[in-house]
Amino acid sequence: MIIGYSLYGPDNDSYMCSDCENIHEGMEGLKACPNCGYRTDFQYVNKQFKMKRRVYDFSFTYDGYPICSLRFKEFCVRQKYRNLEFDEFDTTNKFYIIRPTEILEYDLTRSHPRFDKFCDTCRNFESVTKPYPAYIQNITKELADGFYRSDLMFASGNEKSPLIIIGKETRERLKKEKMKGLEFQEING
Ligand SMILES: [Zn+2]
Repeated sequence: MIIGYSLYGPDNDSYMCSDCENIHEGMEGLKACPNCGYRTDFQYVNKQFKMKRRVYDFSFTYDGYPICSLRFKEFCVRQKYRNLEFDEFDTTNKFYIIRPTEILEYDLTRSHPRFDKFCDTCRNFESVTKPYPAYIQNITKELADGFYRSDLMFASGNEKSPLIIIGKETRERLKKEKMKGLEFQEING
């Protein structure tokens, strides 16, 4: 059954700290694997981040960071969603990295993503793609209104990020607010 939706969005034509292959210069303290070279710190925030395409309430950087607008953040605060953090930048007070902290277990027995090139050193795959159809373990009813993330991360190289998952009710509320940039995919329990 459908328990919720993943929340996706268009690209905002911006990079947080890297492109798929390379970490950009000046990213002090960003840890990378000595073997495969890809970043291993997925919490890293580039405080000097510059947002190029600023028209969306929800969008992704090319390196997989979900970015929300001030309007989106204020909506979440108003709804009193818990388990949700926002990282700020020095360069703008209008956009934030949005990070759900409640983790759902992606079910590898029923979902069949594609895994490529495991790195023995950092124990990440170079690439994990095709997340859909997506199943979550141990959830047999609709998710409560709010935000969640998958334990598994998707995409390639430095672009990997978890699925952001929301409840059905959350999706309705977001649509009603007419947030720009929202795309949804079904998540099954
Ligand atoms: Zn590695």
